[in-house]
Amino acid sequence: MVFQGSKPPMNDKSFNSILLAVIVVTILLVVGVHFIPDKRLALISNPSIPLFLNSEPLTDGTPSSEWTNEEYTSWQCNYPDNFDGDYFPCGITMDLSSTIDQGRDLSGYENLTIHMNYTGPANKVRIAIRNYNPTYSNVEDRNSTKFNAVHLHTKDLNREHKLALTAFTVADWWLNQFNIPFAQAAPEFTNAISITIDFGGPEQPGTHQFSIEKFELHGEWISTEHWYLGILCLWMLGIFIFAIKKLIKLNAQTQHDTHIINQLSNTNEQLREETNKFRRLSTVDPLTQLYNRFGIDQIVASLADQNRPETSAKYSLIITDIDHFKQINDQHGHDNGDLVLQHIANIIQDNMRANDFVGRWGGEEFVMIMPCTSTKTAMSIAETIRTTLANSKVKLNGEIQLSASFGVSEHQPNEDFATCFKRADNALYKAKELGRNRCILAEDKL
Ligand code: GH3
Ligand code: MG
Ligand code: MG
Repeated sequence: MVFQGSKPPMNDKSFNSILLAVIVVTILLVVGVHFIPDKRLALISNPSIPLFLNSEPLTDGTPSSEWTNEEYTSWQCNYPDNFDGDYFPCGITMDLSSTIDQGRDLSGYENLTIHMNYTGPANKVRIAIRNYNPTYSNVEDRNSTKFNAVHLHTKDLNREHKLALTAFTVADWWLNQFNIPFAQAAPEFTNAISITIDFGGPEQPGTHQFSIEKFELHGEWISTEHWYLGILCLWMLGIFIFAIKKLIKLNAQTQHDTHIINQLSNTNEQLREETNKFRRLSTVDPLTQLYNRFGIDQIVASLADQNRPETSAKYSLIITDIDHFKQINDQHGHDNGDLVLQHIANIIQDNMRANDFVGRWGGEEFVMIMPCTSTKTAMSIAETIRTTLANSKVKLNGEIQLSASFGVSEHQPNEDFATCFKRADNALYKAKELGRNRCILAEDKL
């Protein structure tokens, strides 16, 4: 029988190597989040974001604002000394819209980095981000876009400045003008249409000069929390896949083992059957199906208590030998002789009780062992067999008369089987001597 082996399992060494590699990658990922470059959007000098100068002619016809360099990063406004504070725009607008209601989503950015130089009399500069939302905006009125604004002190300018988008607030005048409910009053950058830099109030007379060196939005491509959550999810997924694979493997292994156990069990059963068959063959006489001499030896051994022979089971022993069997063979042939042996075996067997044992000792000689049986009973049974046999008819080439002689002994305390057998055999011999076809009780001693 061949047992098929399963695929060799992943050994501890390769598992440890993989685990180590995964841990190293995890550490790299945990540390690596700080090295991921920022998400960045330059709002100035960006060909995809047009810039407009907010300018109107003053009363004397001169424009309120004008570019002062070719890169459109500097501009200036001139308000005359007799300027009465009317609104004349001074500033620029960055157009983020692709259509009138479609801008850019800036909600993924956290900071606005500004490096803007200003010289002039103003105290504050305003940065406003307009956001279109159909809930409160309409395309006819550009002013209906939400007005998220922050005011910067001009003294804070002239250096790089990082401004959190959370610093923006929605202008009160805008909330009032459009009667915005509280639920929609928070700053919003999901659909930014434009960004404007101006003063946002009555302008001061004089010259205001602006130049922008940097004006860009910064944000994380992925937040640290999401990054770590992703790593955690990957680990959980890995553990889940590992557990499922392990489970599948275990299941396959169990099935394989069950198959082998079944095979072994079947083999075991076959071996048991074979053993029983051979045990039977070794202890049974094939012609009469009675025990053979080896079988009788086994029974005798099982009855004898080797350590305490005096308490060994008491039994009676009958030995019988067919009278003139040689003549039967000679007259009717060996095959018919075998039939006679089977006939006699059946008669003996029929007269045995449940706990008695009968065997063919050899040739035409039979042995009966009767546990816990007195000689009186044994003699009676021997007599029954003798008469049954003598009265039985066997038809071979004509009817023949059968008879057998019997020797009966009783097992004595401390007596071995051979001695008991010898006494019965002596009695049998005596029966033959006295003319056969009779039962003789053995002497108590040899
Ligand atoms: P006695 O009355 O003195 O016992 O005479 P007997 O002829 O029965 O005794 P003997 O020992 O001379 O002959 C026994 C014969 O039994 C001899 C042998 O050929 C025959 N025999 C032994 N085994 C078998 C067997 O298995 N089959 C047959 N058919 N004959 C057997
Ligand atoms: Mg004989
Ligand atoms: Mg004989």
